[in-house]
Amino acid sequence: MSAKRRPWYSDGLRFTCTACGKCCVNHGEDYAYVYLAEIEIDALAAHFGLERDAFLERYTTTDQGEVVLLDNGDRCIFLDDAMRCTVYPARPRQCRTWPFWRENLDRKEWDGPIRDVCPGVGTGALYTRDEIEAIADWTDAVDDPDADQTPPRHYPGDGHAK
Ligand code: SF4
Ligand code: SF4
Repeated sequence: MSAKRRPWYSDGLRFTCTACGKCCVNHGEDYAYVYLAEIEIDALAAHFGLERDAFLERYTTTDQGEVVLLDNGDRCIFLDDAMRCTVYPARPRQCRTWPFWRENLDRKEWDGPIRDVCPGVGTGALYTRDEIEAIADWTDAVDDPDADQTPPRHYPGDGHAK
């Protein structure tokens, strides 16, 4: 008999964004941190009214073969001085679904570096296990042209503005 183990977040996790912008800043990582999938490149190019190649030239570079947004010092090139996202309607999916990324759904990660960066972790709205997993799946689906790209019913970027 095989019983699937309940994950540690089976009773859900609380999260509400305070719009602090800290997740748009590099915290000493030695890698780029805003990766762009094909559909996100298209969306951002359209947001600026640019041809795809012009957008890539102006705002991106590559890191280990992946297209990534340029940095402005220690932060995303699209974060303004008031810590607001200047491409909010076209921001990448990883920005809409943080902190419910698959790699963050490890208790030590969640209660360690994720909570340290993000003051919204552990506060406010309750996300159920099913909602959390739907958000993590949608995050990963952005790179899969065959995946259903329909947003989950409830995800961090469905209402707040950072
Ligand atoms: S997700 Fe967290 S770190 Fe990012 S802006 Fe919201 S509260 Fe701040
Ligand atoms: S695109 Fe916007 S939300 Fe995403 S990291 Fe940059 S400033 Fe933050």
